[in-house]
Amino acid sequence: MNNYFVILAAGKSKRFSKKIPKQFFKYKNKEIIDHSIEKSLNSNLFKKILIVTNSIKQLKKKKYHKSISIIKGGKERSDSSLKALKYLKRFKPKNVFIHDAARPNFSIKLLKNIAKNLKNNEAVVPIINSKDTIKYKIQNQIFNLNRNNLLLTQTPQAFRFKKLYEVAKDQKDKVTDEATLFINKDFKIKFIPGEKGNNKITFIDDIKTPKTFYGIGFDIHKLVKNKKLYLGGIKIPFHSGLEGHSDGDVILHAIIDSILGAMRKKDIGTYFPNTKKFKNIRSPKMLKPIIIDLNKSNLVINNLDINLICQKPRVSKYRKKIINSVSKLTGLNENQINLKGKTVEKLGLIGKEKAIACETIISISNYE
Ligand code: ZN
Repeated sequence: MNNYFVILAAGKSKRFSKKIPKQFFKYKNKEIIDHSIEKSLNSNLFKKILIVTNSIKQLKKKKYHKSISIIKGGKERSDSSLKALKYLKRFKPKNVFIHDAARPNFSIKLLKNIAKNLKNNEAVVPIINSKDTIKYKIQNQIFNLNRNNLLLTQTPQAFRFKKLYEVAKDQKDKVTDEATLFINKDFKIKFIPGEKGNNKITFIDDIKTPKTFYGIGFDIHKLVKNKKLYLGGIKIPFHSGLEGHSDGDVILHAIIDSILGAMRKKDIGTYFPNTKKFKNIRSPKMLKPIIIDLNKSNLVINNLDINLICQKPRVSKYRKKIINSVSKLTGLNENQINLKGKTVEKLGLIGKEKAIACETIISISNYE
């Protein structure tokens, strides 16, 4: 195991953020650079891990594992890479892996696959195909490129040290990866499948994670004779129905309140007061504008959990129908909705079939 791992983290990341160098930005509970450091350490593939950076002070504070060294980077990526090779030469490495700190999402499996392929090859580079259709511009002319022939190279890229050192030390161009050096010399590279998730973080938007909010809802209505019973937007055969200014659908009312709660937009009474206008309104009509508002705000419901609290009717008998109806009214898939029935041991008004209550909880994410 005479492998060395180089992490290039000297970029100015001007496109990312003015305030903080990209490699120190928090991403998935860690600074971006620490993802690469931890994975290379945990792979047990490397004698030494070398970080090339222009933020030496910040990194030295972190007291890394003894197999990690830190050196100052150059102006361009290719300068930093050459500095790393010059530094490593004294250790007489057999192989060197070069990696951009801006790709924190590679897997240890990919590292091991590269190492395996390096046994019989002098250069191993992970690639993926392009999802986008790319045009090529020369002066004022634009050419079409066949997407199937486009290969996107990723890092880590691994090389026989000696061979890479030879080509890197007299390079003139500012190359943006080491594979370019090998291709320029017509040296053979073994390309292996890269990873879709191993994308490069360039803009702060690349790592924005959605914000998630939760909302709870509760409702209760009295059961009265000579009224139809509506639950979750459907009619259920029963001896009584729910009294109210509307159709008394406790499930939909609790859902509306939980959505409004997660959106931090007050409560159902604010939008549907007990006025003439809303007398005898059906509850799906109340839910509809709330869902439209939710969709307009770029919010996405993750899941909805419902507790229907009643002695009767039996929830198990109507569960499928109610979930199907709620799914149609909210746009959710049926597997994002759960409905639980809760009887109350014949206690109180609900136990005596004089009322039905419902509580819901919802989770909503903001993808803006
Ligand atoms: Zn209600």
